[in-house]
Parts: sequence; C-alpha cells; structure tokens
Amino acid sequence: EAFNARVDAADALNAFLVKTPDHALAAADVADAARAAGEAPKPLAGVPIGMKDLFCTKGVATTAASHILEGFVPPYESAVSQNLWDAGAGMLGKLNMDQFAMGSSNETSAFGNVISPWRRKDGGNAPLAPGGSSGGSSSAVAARLCPGATGTDTGGSIRQPAAFTGISGIKPTYGRCSRWGTIAFASSLDQAGPMARDVRDCAIMLEAMAGFDVRDATSLQLDVPQWEAGLSADLKGKRIGIPKEYRVDGMPAEIETLWQQGIDWLRDAGAEIVEVSLPHTKYALPAYYIIAPAEASSNLARYDGVRYGLRDLPEGAGLQDMYAATRADGFGDEVKRRIMIGTYVLSAGFYDAYYTQAQKVRTLIARDFERAWEACDLLLAPTAPSAAFALGEKSADPIAMYLNDVFTVPSSLAGLPAMSVPGGLDAAGLPLGLQIIGKPLDEQGVLNAGL
Ligand code: GLN
Repeated sequence: EAFNARVDAADALNAFLVKTPDHALAAADVADAARAAGEAPKPLAGVPIGMKDLFCTKGVATTAASHILEGFVPPYESAVSQNLWDAGAGMLGKLNMDQFAMGSSNETSAFGNVISPWRRKDGGNAPLAPGGSSGGSSSAVAARLCPGATGTDTGGSIRQPAAFTGISGIKPTYGRCSRWGTIAFASSLDQAGPMARDVRDCAIMLEAMAGFDVRDATSLQLDVPQWEAGLSADLKGKRIGIPKEYRVDGMPAEIETLWQQGIDWLRDAGAEIVEVSLPHTKYALPAYYIIAPAEASSNLARYDGVRYGLRDLPEGAGLQDMYAATRADGFGDEVKRRIMIGTYVLSAGFYDAYYTQAQKVRTLIARDFERAWEACDLLLAPTAPSAAFALGEKSADPIAMYLNDVFTVPSSLAGLPAMSVPGGLDAAGLPLGLQIIGKPLDEQGVLNAGL
C-alpha cells in the first residue's frame, strides 16, 4: 500500500504507463498467508516491483511505449515476469521507456518522456533525462517508487540509465534470461536484467529472473547460480583490467576522476590493477548501429496492422495501404530511422558493405575481450561518457545520442555480463556510474566487484 501510494504521488515523473496496484497487493496477500501458515518465504515474497513495458504481461496492456501497440493486451506472460511472480513478487505497474527500447534518454516514448528525480545543484531546475531505454525503471527505483524494476539491455539500456540515476543494474551474459515474451528489438543482443538500489538486491532479483527456457532457442541450458549467497567484497587475487582504448578523446575530467576512484576502491579491496588493450573498441559503436537496426527492421516487420494493436484502414484502402498507414502513424521517428537504416544495410546491394562487415567487426570485438581475459578477470570502465544531460539537449541530434553508448555497446556485442554501480557525484551533484565487465557467465565476479 505504501509503494502504491508513492507511485500515485509521483505522476509528475511519468515513470508508469499502467498502474497495477491490485497485482502488487495480491502478491503481498499471498506472502502474508504463507507466513501465517508457517511456510518458508519465497525469495521475493510480496516484494512490489516495476515492470518495463517491453515485457508482455498477461491481461495487462503492453505497448513498448509505441503508439503501434496501443490496445494490445498480451494473452500470455513473458518468461522473465512469470519467473518473478513465481518467486513471490508483485507488480506495481508497467514502466515507461524509449519506444521499442531505442534510445538513451527516454525521449522516444510515444507517451511522453520520463523525468529523472535528480536535479543539478547549480544551474536551475531543468528536468534531466533518466537515461534510456529503461528510463521508467531507473527513475522509479531512484525515486523509491519500487525497490527494484526490470530492465532490458541491448546496447546499454540497463547500465546507462542506472548510472544516470545513481542506482545499480546488471545485464547478465547473453542467454541467461529467456527472451520469450519480451518484445524483440535486436534479438542477438537483447538481455533482461534487474535494476535496484544496490548490488545485493540486483543479485536477488537476477536469481529469480534467470534460468533456462526451452521456448527461447538462445537460452543457456545452465542452472542459476546462488549469486546472493556467493557475494563477497574480498577481491584478493582478482586482476582488474583497465582498457586503455576507453580513454576516449575529450573525456570530461570528472569521468577520469570517477574511473581513478573506482581503480582505488578495487585496489583497496585486494585486487591487482593491470592495463589491457581492446584494440577494436572504436569500431564497436558503428558496428552496433548497423547490427541493431538490421535486426530491428526484421523484428518490427510484424507490426502490420493485422495482428497487434493499431490498425489504420483508410476509406477504400487495400492491404498495402493499410500496412503503410498503420506503420506511418504507429511508429515514432527514431523507430522509423532504425527501420530505414536496417533495411538499407540488409538490402542486396549493400549487405556485404555494411552488414557483413559489421558482423566481422563484432567477431573482432569479441576476440579483443577473449585476449584481455588472458591478462585479467574483470574490466573496469566508466558506464557513460557524461552524467545525465538535460531533456532536449541531444534529442535533435541522433549521432550525439548514439555516442552516449560508447562504453556500453562493446560488451553487448560480445554478450558479456556487465554492471553499472554508483561511483559518486559530479560537481553538479549528479550521479556517475562505474561499469564492471566480466567473462562469459561470471556474473558472480561482476557482482562481487560491484559490491
Ligand atoms: N541506446 C541504445 C540504442 O538506442 C541502446 C538501447 C538498448 O540497450 N535497448 O540502441
């Protein structure tokens, strides 16, 4: 009831697209009844969480923050959300996001942007971006509207919003969380993960979310480790790599300071610090912005006015007219931009020049990491090249927006687990995030360094 009331009192943040107070209360009732019956509590017994609107929830409107899915009520539950309900959690509501998870500021939502609960201590009261695409999740957790929320990360959408709002978030190894029932953006990159107040809460939530699922062909057939029980802040014997190529030109001094602070913390915890090289880093962003749109253009072909949500059927129109009208009306500008880039790079004349090249670059980036693991166990880097920017500051310039993903996309392309944890505040009093990247399946190492 307290969380439902907080959610209601925070409408100005625009974090929730749909509120489901009864869902949260029902989970609390089940937890109470189990306690009264003397049963051992489930790991998330009665915990009310926020659900990013990319996860299909049975009987609860799901739009991916796009007009094209308005009116769509899924007849099924996503694997990740079902896993959370099975662990005892309840849902406060569906969280706003960048449309189809495309964006870094939440400004591509068809239902208005989310606002970060943070303000600069200098320079007035300009509303700040909560990051994206999981900006409803970051804003809601940062404003304490929920103890945890789900996010998805294709190229940084859990880590960058976590960094912008001073919370923690982890993207597990690709394949840890089932993608079944999660609305697809770029299938070879999409991963679900938790966003919460601290590392321990992330470990608890991720344990509930992860697990093999036969319905997702890329799901890893592995048991879920006991990450929470395995938490340890002792990093003795761990080698932490500092990738020198992440020292990009024009990196603000406060990001340098943050990074050095992180290095000092990890050294104090017993780790050995080593410099490593990831030589193909500078090609990661261009490769990502070919591969992700290519997959998106294919995944989004299904929104044709026939099967889901919106249908625009002009007077006397034929089938093609219906497709065109529905898609023109239903998709936002950024989504259309991605579809156009994606169909272009996949077209017969340009496939080899763009898509095939990008796939080769992806392999080189993955090999960079494999080589780095010979010298270190984990990598430490900033999560984003800046603190939260003002809403509107980058929305007219897609390239400036894409550049914000420079530190998060390489590990996405390589499918590695990566986490953002709060690293301190900048001169304006805004949070900055430190990123820890791990070997495949080493979520435990990532969480421990984050702790
Ligand atoms: N900002 C990146 C993009 O727009 C990443 C988004 C994401 O991880 N879903 O593609």
